[in-house]
Amino acid sequence: MIAAGDTLLIATRNAGKTKEFAQAFAAIGVTVKDLREVDSIPEIDETGTTFAENALIKAKTVADLTGLPVLADDSGLCVDALGGDPGVYSARYAGEKATDSENNAKLLRELGALSERPAVEEEGPEGKRLLSSARFVASLVLYEPATGEKTVAEGAVYGFIMDSASGEGGFGYDPLFYVPEFRQSMAEMSVAQKNKISHRGQALRALLEKLR
Ligand code: IMP
Repeated sequence: MIAAGDTLLIATRNAGKTKEFAQAFAAIGVTVKDLREVDSIPEIDETGTTFAENALIKAKTVADLTGLPVLADDSGLCVDALGGDPGVYSARYAGEKATDSENNAKLLRELGALSERPAVEEEGPEGKRLLSSARFVASLVLYEPATGEKTVAEGAVYGFIMDSASGEGGFGYDPLFYVPEFRQSMAEMSVAQKNKISHRGQALRALLEKLR
């Protein structure tokens, strides 16, 4: 089990994610670094059918290549009216190198196409229609190659997809994702507020709880 004084490699090149993880792991005395500091890690194909499978593929591949304990995450949006899509395909919904706005446009197209779908009863913010219930899900896997030990944690946040975007913050599908408790889209929240309620924030707190 990872412990105070250890170094943990985060399987990401995203400085924002690393900063979030570094802060959280400092609380248990663990230092983190990420793939920007490690040479020759190839692109890893995310061939799993669940978020947890993909996180494990990434964590295990990087751990086996480096010999270090590795934390990997995988996350995405599951929309009920679309049978859980885009799910593990969230980042590449509108194509391999799709931008956030291309993915958002495809999501609205797909939901608009389902004309026989019953209306969502929950009321949206002023001037918006809610198209479907949905959830963001995040899986985290910490894999330790010396022992083969895996620690897995998951978090989810529940809301609705609106018929048009609101807010400038966040990334990905945040501008279309309405959180009823706060009567705001995820893109209208401050970073601190989003971290408090988000799927990734919940998964990270659950993981740290297991490591304590
Ligand atoms: P990844 O886990 O970083 O590969 O993210 C997968 C994809 O899911 C992202 O590219 C976004 O499209 C979507 N996604 C994951 N988390 C969020 C979030 O917090 N807000 C909005 N979109 C998200």
